[in-house]
Amino acid sequence: MAADIVNVTREDEIAVIAVNNPPVNTITAGVRAGLGRALDEVAALSGIKAVVLICEGRTFFSGADIGEFNGPPKEAEFRSLFGRFEALTVPVVAAMHGTVLGGGLEIALACHYRVAAPSARFGFPEVTLGIIPGAGGTQRLPRLVGADKALDLILSARPVGVGQAVEDGFVDALIDGDLRAGALGYARALLARGEGPRRTCDRAVDPATATDAIFKARTAQAQKQYPNCTAPLTAIEAVDTALRLPFDQGLLVEERLVNGAKATDECRAAIHLFFAERRTRDVPNLPQGAKPRPVKSAGIVGAGTMGGGIAISFANASMPVTILDTSEALLAHGLARIDQTYATMVERGRLTAAEKAQRMSLIRGTLDYADLGEADVIIEAAYEDLDLKREIFLKLDRVAKAGAVLATNTSTLDVTDIARAVKRPQDVVGMHFFSPANVMPLLEVVRTPLTSAEVIRTVMDLSKPLKKTPVLADVCYGFIGNRMMEGYAREAERMVLEGASPRQIDSALEQWGMAMGILAVFDMAGIDIGVNVHKANADRYPPDASYYQADFALAEAGRLGQKTGKGYYRYEPGSRARHDDPEAIDILRTRARELQVPQRQHDPQEIVERCLFPLINEGFRILEEGVALRAADIDVVWTSGYGFPRYRGGPMFHAQTLGLDNVLAGIEKYQKAFGPMHWEPAPLLVELARSGRSIADWERYHEVG
Ligand code: NAD
Repeated sequence: MAADIVNVTREDEIAVIAVNNPPVNTITAGVRAGLGRALDEVAALSGIKAVVLICEGRTFFSGADIGEFNGPPKEAEFRSLFGRFEALTVPVVAAMHGTVLGGGLEIALACHYRVAAPSARFGFPEVTLGIIPGAGGTQRLPRLVGADKALDLILSARPVGVGQAVEDGFVDALIDGDLRAGALGYARALLARGEGPRRTCDRAVDPATATDAIFKARTAQAQKQYPNCTAPLTAIEAVDTALRLPFDQGLLVEERLVNGAKATDECRAAIHLFFAERRTRDVPNLPQGAKPRPVKSAGIVGAGTMGGGIAISFANASMPVTILDTSEALLAHGLARIDQTYATMVERGRLTAAEKAQRMSLIRGTLDYADLGEADVIIEAAYEDLDLKREIFLKLDRVAKAGAVLATNTSTLDVTDIARAVKRPQDVVGMHFFSPANVMPLLEVVRTPLTSAEVIRTVMDLSKPLKKTPVLADVCYGFIGNRMMEGYAREAERMVLEGASPRQIDSALEQWGMAMGILAVFDMAGIDIGVNVHKANADRYPPDASYYQADFALAEAGRLGQKTGKGYYRYEPGSRARHDDPEAIDILRTRARELQVPQRQHDPQEIVERCLFPLINEGFRILEEGVALRAADIDVVWTSGYGFPRYRGGPMFHAQTLGLDNVLAGIEKYQKAFGPMHWEPAPLLVELARSGRSIADWERYHEVG
C-alpha cells in the first residue's frame, strides 16, 4: 500500500518523508503517488520549518522504473513532482545512502541541500541505456557544478563516491554514523543559521564551465567513447540548453530530447538487454522439485589461464577453492599468476592489500585429487582434449563427494561424451567461462540430455555470487557462442584470401561496433588454438578447400599471434599494438593463389554483411533447434561474451531491427554470388521473413524448455 511506501513523521519542527520500496527504492508510480501525498501531508502540518527526504533499506532511490520506459512518457509527472519539492518554502534536505542513480539523483538535485552516508555513490547511467537524464538532471546538475563536471558525470555513466560528490559541489556534507539523525542535525543547523530554501532552479550555469572549447572537447570524448551512439550527444545538447534557456524552458527541451532518445534503436536495444540479462536465469519447464544444491566450496582442475581466472571468481565470492595441476612447478606458476592478477587490482586501487590477502588465503593448490573430495562443485579446465578430460572425470568420480557438481570448461568438446565417463552423468554439466574468466560476465551453462534439473538449477544460481550472467545451452558443437562464431570467422578468413587486408576486415567490423575485429581476436587468443580445433573437427565442415586456410597458412609459418609477435599483424615486444605486416599479406596471397581463390574488392558494407549474416543465420538455427531457450539469450551471449555492440542489442535483436526480410535478402544475395555451400538460409528465418512475423511472434507460440 502506498501509505506503507512513503511515510511522514515529524521531529519537532522537521518533517521526515521516509520511503520504503524494497529492494532498491525504485521510483515507481506507487512511490511517486506516495511522495505526492506526503507533500500534501507536510503542507497540512503546522509549524514545519524543514523537510528531510530519506529512504529505508539498502539505498536511497536507485533510479526510475525501467519497466515504464516502454509505456507512455512520464517526464511531465516527474517534473511536476520534483518541482514540488524544489518549490517548498522551507529547506529540504535529501539524506542519501547506497547507490543514488538516475532519477534518484535527480530528485536529490531538486532538494535544497544534500547530505550523504560515506558509502553512497552517485551517477547517471542513462547514456548506457540510450537515453539522457530526463527528470531535470541535465538542467539542474550543470547549475550546481558547472557544465563541464556535469558532462563528466553524465558521459562517464559511472558512479562517483561521496568524496568526489562533495568536491564537485552537489553533495553538501558527509554524515558519519546514523544518517537520519545526521540529516536532522544538519537541518537543525540550517535553521539555527537562518538558512532558507536554496533552489537549484534559481541558479545559473557558470559560463566559465561551458565554453565552446569545453563543449567541443566533451563532444569529441562522447564520439570516441560511444561510437555510433546518439544519446551522449543528445545529453550534451541538453546540458547546453541549461546554459542558454531559462530553467522551465530547459526542462521542456530536456523532455523533448529524452523522448526522442527513447524512440531510437540504441535505446530499444539497451532496454532489451537490460531485461534479457535479468531473465537468463529463468529456466522454464524444470521440474518443480528441482532445488539448487548449496555450493560453499569449489575445486578446479588445471591452474592455467582459465583455471586461474575461475579460481579468482570463486575467491571474490568468498568461497574457498582448491586448485589442482600436474606438477609443483605448474601449480606454483598458476598460483603466481593469480597473485599477480590480484596485485594489479591493488595497484589500480580496485582492492586493498588486506582484501587481496584475504582472497588469496581462500585459494590453495594441490597435486592430490583427494583434496577435491569436499568440494561442492569441481570445474575441470585442463587442456582441450577429450581423452584427457574423460580421464580426469574418472578420477573425479572416485574422489568427489556424492552430490558434487562436476563441470567442464570445454569450449568445443561434447559434454555428453565427458559425462559418460563417470557413474553419475546426471551431475555433469558444462560451465563455459570466457577469458579472462574473472572479468568476462558470460557463463554458458551447457546441459547434456543426462544432466539433472537440480544440477542445472544449482549452476544457474551459483552464477549469482560468481557475478556471472548464465545462459543455458543444449549440448552441440560450439554451444551458442562458438557455433555462431564459425560462419562469422569463416567469412573473415575467406575475405583475406580474396585479397582484403586484415586491417580492412578488422576496421570494418570495429567501425560497425564489434569491440575487436575477429582477426585481431585470433592473434590475441593464439592462432594455433583455432587451428587445433579445426583439425580435430575437420570432418564436421563443408568440403571447402579454402575453409579457415588463412589461419592454417599463418600457423604453418610460425605466426601464432601476439605470443609469437606476429600473426595477422606484427607486434613489438611487450606491446599489443597491431602493425600491418607485408609478410603476413604475402603468406595469405600465396595460399590464395595455391587455392585459386578469386580475388575481389571489399567495401566495409560487404565485410560487415558477410561476417554478420552467417552469424545471425546460425542464431536462427540455434533458436529453432531449442539449443538456446530464447532469442534474447543469444543476444546476451554475444553482447557479454563476444564484444557485440550493446547498442545494437545482440545479433537477433539486430536482425529484427534490420528487418528479417532484409536479412534473408542479404543471405540470398551472397548465396547467388558464392554458391549454396555456406549460404543456406535457416528455415526459421525463411519462415518468419516470408510470413512477416517477428521473432517475438514465433516465441509467443513456441514452447521452450
Ligand atoms: P591452459 O593451457 O592455460 O591451462 C591448462 C592447465 O591445465 C595447465 O596449467 C595444465 O598444466 C593443466 N593440466 C593439463 N593436464 C592436466 C591434468 N591431467 N590434470 C590437471 N591439470 C592439467 O589452458 P586454458 O586456456 O586455461 O584452457 C583450459 C580449458 O578451458 C580448455 O578446455 C579450453 O578449451 C577451455 N577454454 C579456454 C578459453 C580461453 O580463452 N583460453 C576460453 C574458454 C574455455
